[in-house]
Amino acid sequence: MPGYWDDCNDYRDEDEQNDRNMMFAGDSALRAESSTNPRNLPCPTCGEPHRLTPNDQALGYQCDSCADREEFGG
Ligand SMILES: [Zn+2]
Repeated sequence: MPGYWDDCNDYRDEDEQNDRNMMFAGDSALRAESSTNPRNLPCPTCGEPHRLTPNDQALGYQCDSCADREEFGG
């Protein structure tokens, strides 16, 4: 096994994923954030803070990352 870990792509991959998540937010099943519906609640599945709005939680949603994981059979 050659030293693939040496090419330090870890951080960049994470940034790209974050960017992608933000771009896909418009496509998401999650409710849009607004002043009366702030995205201030943690995801019930992964526990990440500020993932869901009160509407999302009332509908039993989880965050996009968890929804994706489920969708891909994880
Ligand atoms: Zn989650």
